[in-house]
Amino acid sequence: MKVAVIGGSLGGLTAALLLRDMGANVHVYERSANELVQRGAGIGFLPESQRYLVSRAGVALDDISIATHHIRYLDRAGMVVHDEQHDYRFSSWNTVYRQLYACVKPDMYRLGHEMVDWHDDGESVRVDFRNGTQITVDLVVFADGVNSLARQRLIPTATPNYAGYVAWRGMVHESSLSEDTFAMLDDAITYHVYANSHILVYPIPGVDGEIERGKRLFNFVWYRNYAAGGDIENLMTDKDGALREASMPPGSVSARHVDEMRAVAAARLPGPIADVVCGSEQPFVQVIYDLAISDMAFGRTCLLGDAAFIARPHAAAGTAKAADDAWSLVESLEAHSDLTKALRTYEAKQLVVGRNLMERTQRIGRRSQFDGNWTPGDPELIFGLKAPGT
Ligand SMILES: Cc1cc2nc3c(=O)[nH]c(=O)nc-3n(C[C@H](O)[C@H](O)[C@H](O)COP(=O)(O)OP(=O)(O)OC[C@H]3O[C@@H](n4cnc5c(N)ncnc54)[C@H](O)[C@@H]3O)c2cc1C
Repeated sequence: MKVAVIGGSLGGLTAALLLRDMGANVHVYERSANELVQRGAGIGFLPESQRYLVSRAGVALDDISIATHHIRYLDRAGMVVHDEQHDYRFSSWNTVYRQLYACVKPDMYRLGHEMVDWHDDGESVRVDFRNGTQITVDLVVFADGVNSLARQRLIPTATPNYAGYVAWRGMVHESSLSEDTFAMLDDAITYHVYANSHILVYPIPGVDGEIERGKRLFNFVWYRNYAAGGDIENLMTDKDGALREASMPPGSVSARHVDEMRAVAAARLPGPIADVVCGSEQPFVQVIYDLAISDMAFGRTCLLGDAAFIARPHAAAGTAKAADDAWSLVESLEAHSDLTKALRTYEAKQLVVGRNLMERTQRIGRRSQFDGNWTPGDPELIFGLKAPGT
């Protein structure tokens, strides 16, 4: 089977590797002209995201992620109000991307290929790229992310809904933190919850994937409400005056918003958490959206990862969902020789995963940002793709 995977981030790479292992003749077509680099920061490293690297590539978890053993909540004064034993793994987008990319043969991954159109005639699919290349394949997997062109064309009515808040994110070198701050944050994911907001801090590998103590980073994710319209537009107008939609990469947020965010952190957050926020050199912003779709399979094509559902990050399951979609797609293809049947099986399974994740993370977000009824230690708040803690 000849397969084109459109989009070469974590979802596309996982799908391509699994399809190759299945025996397909597969190529990844990535819009970016250069190897992708970290836009952001940490990822909750759930079992689905670990699965390919551990079970197929033989990578040791301790080489690519950091284990923490506590969930900790601090009050405003920085005192521990809740501490429970819970094992998590955290990694960074960069670290996982590099590992998956290393599994791909150079010819399999084609940079500088932006898909602009496709035509599915029922027998095969012709795909057109902006650089003039044209290919014909048996199956196309669209893993083209949050702003998926494929989704916009296939389901024009599916548009992302702004959730009413954003995630401010950033990272700081752990070596720059005071001993007291480090001791409070080490070996834990640390939360602070207050009116209409919450923030979490956890350790992730260093910029080049270092996992040794002293070389790692601490990553923060701070959910803050901005009213739809002028308020969010003002935030999302970058330092050069351009209005951005889904995210503001490091270095692009206007100075007045960075200053405001740091001032609120210093005045309002517990000391150890404020240290991480204020020490982060280039904080950036990710707007929180919801998007559900009713179909994932269309003739000889399918949607996968963020190109399908967009769920809020409260279950730390965005990358896990993309990986789970990839495994499910390949398991369905292996189970059914008929392509339509295989894609329908994939769709039926993953629509449920996407819908459940979206609804659960919507509920968590509403409780934190608007209803104000989060309680430290609430089991619903444990990360997991299919349910808390799984
Ligand atoms: C560079 C980068 C850095 C990231 N950093 C983080 C992070 O630090 N923390 C975090 O939690 N999440 C991060 N993410 C998002 C995270 O990867 C996803 O939320 C999740 O893993 C689902 O992945 P995905 O492969 O479905 O979509 P995405 O990761 O969004 O990838 C979509 C890919 O498709 C490509 N693409 C889009 N349109 C086309 C087209 N027309 N033709 C060809 N290619 C196209 C994009 O360039 C992109 O590489 C990052 C994504 C990228 C692309």
